[in-house]
Formats: sequence, structure tokens, C-alpha cells
Amino acid sequence: MASDSGAPTGKVVTRFAPSPTGYLHIGGARTALFNWLFARHHGGRALLRIEDTDRKRSTQDAIDKIIDGLDWLGLDYDEPALFQSDRAERHAEVARRLLDNGHAYKCFATPEELEAMRAEQRAAKVPMRYDRRWRDRDPVEAPEGAPYVIRLKVPTEGETTIEDAVQGKVTVKNAEIDDYVLLRADGTPTYMLAVVVDDHDMGVTHVIRGDDHLNNAFRQLPIIRAMNAIEGGWPDPVYAHVPLIHGPDGAKMSKRHGAVGVEAYRDDEGILPEALFNYLLRLGWGHGDREEISREEAVALFDLSGVGKGPARFDIKKLQNLNGHYIREADDARLASIVAEKLGSSADEKLLAKAMPVLKPRAKSINELSEGSQFLFAKRPLEMTEKAAALLDDEARARLAELSKMLHLQNDWTIEALEATTKTYAEAQELGLGKLAQPMRAALTGTTTSPGIFDVLVLLGKEESLARIDAQASSPARSAQDA
Ligand code: GLU
Repeated sequence: MASDSGAPTGKVVTRFAPSPTGYLHIGGARTALFNWLFARHHGGRALLRIEDTDRKRSTQDAIDKIIDGLDWLGLDYDEPALFQSDRAERHAEVARRLLDNGHAYKCFATPEELEAMRAEQRAAKVPMRYDRRWRDRDPVEAPEGAPYVIRLKVPTEGETTIEDAVQGKVTVKNAEIDDYVLLRADGTPTYMLAVVVDDHDMGVTHVIRGDDHLNNAFRQLPIIRAMNAIEGGWPDPVYAHVPLIHGPDGAKMSKRHGAVGVEAYRDDEGILPEALFNYLLRLGWGHGDREEISREEAVALFDLSGVGKGPARFDIKKLQNLNGHYIREADDARLASIVAEKLGSSADEKLLAKAMPVLKPRAKSINELSEGSQFLFAKRPLEMTEKAAALLDDEARARLAELSKMLHLQNDWTIEALEATTKTYAEAQELGLGKLAQPMRAALTGTTTSPGIFDVLVLLGKEESLARIDAQASSPARSAQDA
């Protein structure tokens, strides 16, 4: 199916196999992205498997969040998601097949015996590992009806080598791999068995996942090879173990570094999906020094040889910069609808769309866009920031009153005309335009930062603009608190 270099020679099938833990971790999202890109790049199939065998953690809510996050990132799948918990019988069937063919055995060791074994190993300071005590024993030696688990008979001689498409050649001595449990005493499959059986049945050719699973590959391969010996048609998959994402301090990315769930980047950090897509792609994969890479380009360019061997460091600033880029590129109506949803009922989507061209050049997040657009919907009397209130001293108010008179007479409410009028007034007063613009901004927006002041006037319209200016021009100086 695949050549040694990891370059596929047949139809590529990848899978993303998250365990639902409450949210889609950004590390998981990157794994999902790499799998999806690899499949799309090769015209193969991208599959999704929900590893929900831990029934306590795998709530519907946790599953929905993962699917929602993948959907938001635009990662689509070629078949409905497969649920691992639905397949316990098939997993057990493979365990029994391994047992019947001498590649697995029944172990009758009781929990107490195993605890005693571990205590001895601890005391002797040897690696704690099942000592294979039932590997060569005859099951008839076990008490009648005694419960048993099925363990894999891992070869004890030789070594296993994986040509990992990211890590390179990795070799482990078979003696270091334990005869782990495939099927528990209650007949339920273990995770290790389930993964292998599902990958096979889904026709997965490339297993792309976090490098925290590299050790598992050495435990999973013996099942694959045993089944291949029994019935054929169980080729080794190509493995690609991708280094985990680290925080800026070099430790594995965790909550103390900030948000780790994709939904937090969407809902709290105001990141656009294409920005997170691009950022996660660049986090651990590179194509020269290209930073901005579109979805289409990513599909065209992605390969496993571009995945770095070292852990990538998460850098929120880079993500925000990319986000700023994608905000500037985004369609105004789309941004307006995202911002409107954030702002709730008060927002007028049409007005937001009209304001986007002047709001987006400076915004690095949807939050900044929302904040920047608040003035559009502010109710009179405007709430003033402390800085804005400080700008509106008696002198400034007097000027605003005079300017307002001129603006009331103005019928042509366009940027050019408003600028001309304001300039005329400023020149007559021998004032720099800035001296006038700042109190105007304070009166019109209640803040000291906003888009260009003439843009603000046009967006608010004549009536609302003058009402806001007049509210400040006619009133005596007020403090920020009682404004
Ligand atoms: N369910 C595992 C996880 O979420 C992934 C298993 C695999 O990719 O083989 O870490």
C-alpha cells in the first residue's frame, strides 16, 4: 500500500481518532488537520472515529464539541463518524481469533497475585511488567470457572523497527513489550486492541497522531502482524508520530499556558477558523518560510516530510497576527454576522457590514472588531471612558458647540464635505485638526480610539452624530463617573 518513504502507492485512508474529553484540544485539532490534509492531498479518504470506550467521560456533549470544532475548522469526513463503543463485539472476535491461533493466551492471575508480583518487582527495582506467568501454562491448571483475561503473546526475541514518516527509524527490543491485556475478564476489549481492529476495518493506510502514541505503535504492531499471519490482509500502516505542541516555556501545552480548547479560540479569543487552520498547519509543518497559506494551497502542498521532528511552541501573538490578516481578507458581510452574533440583539448587521472596511484594518480578533463597533449602537447619553471624559473640558465643549452649528447646516454628509467643513473651522480657530478630532471622537464614541472621525460621522449619520455632539457641547464638564 505504501512505499518505505511514506509516499503512498495506493488509495490513502487516514483517520482522526479523538477520545472525547470535553473539548477539542488544539493538539488534537492539529492532528485532525494533518490527517485531513494528507488524505485530501493524495485524493484519499479522511475518516473520523470517536474513541468513546470510556463511557464516563464520553458524554454526548463532549462528542458534540469535538464534531462542532472540526466542522468549524472546515474539516469534513468522507463517512459518518464511527463510534468505537459500537464495535466491542468485533474487537472481542479478533481477540478470540488471536487466542485460537496461538497468538494470545488466557491469563488467570487474580488481582491479588498481580499486586504481589508488582510489589516484588518494586522491591527488586526491576521494571514493573506482567511476568508472563500464564504464557506457557495449560489453562486446565486454573480452577474451574475462574475468570481470565486474554493477553497478547508478544514475541520475546528480536526487535521491532518502525520507519516512522516523521520520527525516522525507531527500534524497540521485543522483550521490552509486555504481554498486555486484549480482552478483560468481563469480555470488554482494551483500548490497544480496539484501535488496531478499527484501523484495520476502516482500511486506514496512514496513522498520523501525536508522538505520545509512539510507544503504543510497538504494542499495536504485534497484533497487526499476528492477524496478518493468521488471515492476511493486515498490512502495517505507515506511522507518522507528530511532536506535541508545547507552550512558550517549552513544557507540554496545558491549561496553564492559556486556552487549549478550539472553542475557546473561537468564542473567547475571537479567532477566525481560517486563521486557526493556517496557524495549526504552520505549527509543526513548514514549506520554506511561508506563513500565510490558504486552505487550497495547504491541500496542494501538504506532505509528511515537512513535519518537524522537534516540538512546536505555541505563540499566541503569531496566531493573532495571522488572525488580523484573515480578518482583513474576510468578506464584510460575514464578519458583520459573526460580530452581530457576539454583540447580541442590539446590533444592526447592515450597519456593521458598512463599518467593516474601517473597523477591520486595525483588528486582530473578533473581540476587537466587536469592541470597535460598540460606538455604532451606543445609547445616549453615551458612557464615557475616563480618558474621553478628560478630553471634554470647557474649551473643547465650546468648540464642539460652534462646530455643531456649522455641521447642522451641512446637507452633504460625506467624508469629503465633512472634512472640508471641519478643516475650515479648525483653520479659523488656528487649531490643528487633531485638537478638534479628539474631543469630537470622545463626544461621538465615548472613547479615545475609533476609526477616522469622518468615517464615524458618516456611519452614525447626521442626526445621531449631531445629537451626540450636542449632548456634550451643551452640557457643563462632567466626570467619567456621572457621565
Ligand atoms: N484516542 C487517542 C487520543 O485521543 C488517539 C488514538 C490513536 O490515534 O491511535 O489520544
